[in-house]
Amino acid sequence: MPNEIASRGSSEPSTLSSAYTLLDTLRFLYPDLTFRPGKKFKFRPKKTIYYLPPETSPETFPLLLCHELAHALLGHFSYLTDLERLKIEVAAWEETKNLCEKFEIPFSSEFANLELDTYRDWLNQKSLCKTCGMTRFETPDGNYHCPRCDLLKA
Ligand SMILES: [Zn+2]
Ligand SMILES: [Zn+2]
Repeated sequence: MPNEIASRGSSEPSTLSSAYTLLDTLRFLYPDLTFRPGKKFKFRPKKTIYYLPPETSPETFPLLLCHELAHALLGHFSYLTDLERLKIEVAAWEETKNLCEKFEIPFSSEFANLELDTYRDWLNQKSLCKTCGMTRFETPDGNYHCPRCDLLKA
């Protein structure tokens, strides 16, 4: 048991220091962007990237930081529909993969898919009609329409 603790203790600081190294590298390479600690990982258009301090989860830090950077680099400033939002996430994860290669960070498509699944679930959940349970469709203005209820209303 003491050995286990010792080995865990020695691996964490290096993960943590590589997280900070990445942060320094990105700040240096993208001086236009502002990297700020926050309550979660978030890109705020047009120039700010918020990150959860590396101490919270050093293992996933590089991947999530690169993901928000991807949003910034791809110019994901706004979206009109939920479907668009999902497409933006897919594109950002594609770009995250490229960034991981560039910065020699191990990319996990499993992790990316899990993250995307939360958006897919959210979208499925949101598209269900609260009145009749049918799957509604979203028009380009971002409004949802139920094929059954809208017909009854007309
Ligand atoms: Zn995202
Ligand atoms: Zn309905």
